[in-house]
Order: sequence, then C-alpha cells, then structure tokens
Amino acid sequence: MESLKLKSKLFYLLLIVGFSLGVVGLIGYINIQNIKRNIDTLYFSSLVPLNELNTISNTYHNDLASPIYRWSNQLLTDKQTTEKISSGLKRINQHWNIYRSHYKNTEEIPYINYADTKIQNLERYFIKVHSIIGDPNRNHPLSLSILDENIQLIHITLHTLINYEKESARYEHAVLIAQYKNALMQLTLFLGIMLILVMSLAWKIFSRIEWQQQQLIRSTETLRHLNHKLEQVSYTDSLTALYNRRYFNILFEREFKRALRSGKPYVFMMLDIDFFKQYNDTYGHLQGDIALQSVSKVLKNTLQRPGDYPFRLGGEEFGIILTDTNCEDAQIMGEKIRANINNLKIEHKGSKILPTLSISIGGICIVPTAQMGDDALIHAADTNLYVAKERGRNQVVFSNTL
Ligand code: GH3
Ligand code: MG
Ligand code: MG
Repeated sequence: MESLKLKSKLFYLLLIVGFSLGVVGLIGYINIQNIKRNIDTLYFSSLVPLNELNTISNTYHNDLASPIYRWSNQLLTDKQTTEKISSGLKRINQHWNIYRSHYKNTEEIPYINYADTKIQNLERYFIKVHSIIGDPNRNHPLSLSILDENIQLIHITLHTLINYEKESARYEHAVLIAQYKNALMQLTLFLGIMLILVMSLAWKIFSRIEWQQQQLIRSTETLRHLNHKLEQVSYTDSLTALYNRRYFNILFEREFKRALRSGKPYVFMMLDIDFFKQYNDTYGHLQGDIALQSVSKVLKNTLQRPGDYPFRLGGEEFGIILTDTNCEDAQIMGEKIRANINNLKIEHKGSKILPTLSISIGGICIVPTAQMGDDALIHAADTNLYVAKERGRNQVVFSNTL
C-alpha cells in the first residue's frame, strides 16, 4: 500500500517534470519564432531598405552630379562623363528595384510612389543630359543650377524615406526588446512555479521514503529480537529453563571441535538423581517436577562462568560442558554440585542411602584428538555415571582417559 502511494507520487513527479519540459520547450519555441520574425522585419524591412536608399542617394551625388561638375570644369572627358551617367542610372535603377521589393507598410506606399515618379523624372533628365554631353555638335548649354535643384529635390525625397525607415527600425527594435523581455519573464515565472511544485513533491517523496526506512529499521529490530527469543525458546527446557537436548547436540560438537583446535581439555559430566523413581512414587509427579527445578537451580547457581553450560538431557538426567577448565578444577566442580544438592536437604524417604535427595555424577576430562569421536566422550561419561551408581550413588566418578 505504502509503496503504491510512493509509486503514484513518483509518477506525478515524472509527469510534472515531463510536462514542465514540454511547456518550457513550447514557450521557448513560440518566443524564438516571434523574435526571429521580428529580427527579419527589422533587418529586411528597415535596415536593408535604409542601406539601399543611402546607396541611391550617394550614387546621385558621386556617379551623376559630381562627374557632371567635373566635366563642366574640364576635369572629365565627354566619354568618361557619359559612361559615368549610364552606370550611375543603372545602379540607381537596380537599388531602387531592390528597395521596392521589400515589405512596405500601406501608409508608406503613397510616398514611395511619389518618390518613384521623382526618380523616373530624374532619370529622363539625366538621359537628356547624357545625350547633350554625348553630342559632339551640341549647341545647347547645360544648366548646372537645374542640376543642383534636381539633386537637392531628390535628396530631400530620399531623406524623407530614409527618416521613415529609421523611425520604423527604431520601432521594430523596441518591439524586439519588449518581446525578449516578455519571453524571459514568461520562462522565469513558469520555471519558478514548476520548481516549487517539483521541490514540494520531491520533499514529500523523500520524507515518505525516510519514514518507510525508519519503519523498516524498526521492523527489522523487532524481527531480530523475536528471532533471538525464538532461538532461546527453541534451546530452552520448559520445566527447568536449562538448555535442552537440541542445544546440547549443537554445542557438544561445537565445543569438542574448539577444544580439538585449541588443545585445551574438554570436560563433560552426566548427572542422574538417585532413586528418583521412588521419589515420584513417594511424593507424586508434581513434587518430582519441583525437585527437578530445585536441582536445576543448583546447577545454574554453581556454574557461573561464561564457558560453563548446564543441560537437561531428558527425564531426571542432566549434562554439563565446561570449557577452558583443567581436570582438577572440573572434578572439584562436580563435587561442589553434588554437595550443593545434598545441602538442599530435600526430604527423600524412598532413598536407600540418605534421608535427603542426592545425585550421582560421571565425568570425563580429556584433550581431544582427531581420531577421537565425540560419541566416545558421552559413552565414557555414561560409564562413569554407571560406576558411581554401582559404588553406592551420591558420588562423583571422573576419568582422564577413554
Ligand atoms: P537410579 O538411582 O538408579 O537412577 O534410580 P532411579 O529411580 O532414579 O532410576 P531412573 O534414573 O531410571 O529413574 C528415572 C525416573 O525419573 C523415572 C521417572 O519416574 C522419573 N522421571 C523422568 N522424567 C521425569 C519428569 O519429567 N518429572 C518427574 N517428576 N519425574 C520424572
Ligand atoms: Mg535416570
Ligand atoms: Mg535416577
């Protein structure tokens, strides 16, 4: 359920990110298209025409008026002058046609038509001048004042157009800047909103993940604790709370191998309550169980070191493993347990040796070798227990060899 919630949140996050990228792309595309259109307008309908008009204006001055003045001062020949006039007119025609081919506003068109008429008139005038200069038998004088007037008039006409183009270039530029600012603002605003959305969703997702991780840590801890408890229960005898036979089977082999590796003595004791059948017969099974618990308590209290392990092997039989203990100390320990059980002074009328409950112990203390099987140790302890029973019970029989 939790992971489903997380998945749907992640899905929304991806959706928002994907959507944002799409919208940013779209806004960017639309704005770039607008800006491109504006640059085109600025360039082709204002700056290029401006350049054409300036070229035309300069051509009137440099290629037409100026050569004629120089001709009148005999600085140019007839031929040179007529060639200049021809090429000048051609150049003006070319540039004027280019100028007219660009986009024009409707309010501009009447003035362009007016300028066109002026240019045509002037062309006719210069063709006339060309034929006068080109005629070797001319008797018609050329009036420079008419030329002056014409040049001035065309300059005024062209400069009106130039000013108009300059004005519209300024306007286009202002539009372009406004458009650029608008695009920048749109993108900033949109990205800001998206950033807040994505951040808040991401924060929610991360806090949920963190919460889930904490839950997982807690669950793992509980599970570990329960496992440990379960393990303890599975290794514990329910009546006496000593280790049970199952744990004995594991530990006996493990400690045997450890002693084999370390070369230290391995101690194992088997304990059996004396005349316990009679005890049950005299005091009842329930009382027998209580006696078993009392004996177990003595084992626990006497064996306090970390390497000492007491077990209930079954019925009224117990086992003890002592690690890191030498053989004399082990035997002393066996004696101590036997004496402590005597000291419990549990009444046992059915015993044939004492008025109180007693125990017999068979022990083995040996440094294990590779040839030695762990079964042999159990067998040896069992034999010694049998000997202790045979010798009259309430005693410890220990051996250091198999
Ligand atoms: P010995 O001195 O030779 O050991 O004589 P014994 O009577 O103790 O003989 P044995 O060890 O064979 O007796 C086992 C008796 O222990 C049989 C049964 O009545 C008793 N017993 C075994 N398990 C339990 C138990 O869980 N509770 C009680 N109350 N008695 C048990
Ligand atoms: Mg027995
Ligand atoms: Mg017994």
